[in-house]
Amino acid sequence: MNDKPISSRTRELLSRYGIVLKKSLGQNFLTDMHVLDKIIRAAELTGNSGVLEIGPGIGALTERLAEQAKKVVAVELDQRLIPVLEQLFIAKPHVKIIHGDAIRVDLNEIIREHFQEAETIHVVANLPYYVTSPIIVRLLAERLPLKNIVVMIQKEVADRLTALPGSKNYSSLTVLVHYFAKAEEVAHVPSHVFVPRPKVDSAVTRLRLRDQPAVRVSDEALFFKVVRAAFAQRRKTLLNTLHSNLLSSYSKAKVEHWLREAAIDPKRRGETLGLPEFASLTEVIRAGIS
Ligand code: SAM
Repeated sequence: MNDKPISSRTRELLSRYGIVLKKSLGQNFLTDMHVLDKIIRAAELTGNSGVLEIGPGIGALTERLAEQAKKVVAVELDQRLIPVLEQLFIAKPHVKIIHGDAIRVDLNEIIREHFQEAETIHVVANLPYYVTSPIIVRLLAERLPLKNIVVMIQKEVADRLTALPGSKNYSSLTVLVHYFAKAEEVAHVPSHVFVPRPKVDSAVTRLRLRDQPAVRVSDEALFFKVVRAAFAQRRKTLLNTLHSNLLSSYSKAKVEHWLREAAIDPKRRGETLGLPEFASLTEVIRAGIS
């Protein structure tokens, strides 16, 4: 491991390669060894783990992952950082750098190609803030064979991932995440440990993927449509928001009947429903519309 303080390592590498960080790419680099330690510990890696890192930057986290895992694949969008990363890991063939966009790369292919021999597969990343939610949704919805996902994200998004029904942070993203995984906030991270310093605090969050989704539904696509419609207009009653945003071709009386059949008061707000209630409502609607 490089034994320089990590903040000077970061500044030195950036100045040596003449790289000016881009806000538009969410480039806030971590400069605190203790926070890196927390991320690594949260990932529960073994010597047989495969790790996908999204946005390695100039490799501060990648170096630590490489010490712990059997194989590390790091996907970085910024072409300017690729030669820096390749040089840093030239003597570590178990670290593979891929120039690509984490939103578009074929994740299944990466897993097939690089993690055949891994006993467990993990995603570990200090995520670029501008694409946090789409990346998390993608990692979960593609049903990749992951053990866990450990990500540094804005505190505000972390609060949404771990929110309970009825709270102000509970959202359609919360429901999606809880459907596929158990979420917990592992550490609160102040903004001053990044270069440059972002405007908001961050949090390390771990998602442990479930073997089976949290609730059984016969039509998953409809389940997520119901959830999105329920949150589309948070100040409206469930009856009104479901009717306007998903079921407008049916009468309001019909939608009200379906809600009552699922034992849900039509006057409730979508944000008060737990996953089992969303699941029963989906089943009733599915039977009603088919
Ligand atoms: N891992 C480094 C660290 O912890 O210091 C850098 C983290 S920085 C918050 C986010 C990184 O993601 C940047 O290196 C940025 O260039 C990269 N990035 C931004 N958008 C990306 C995308 N769509 N796909 C892959 N990498 C991306």
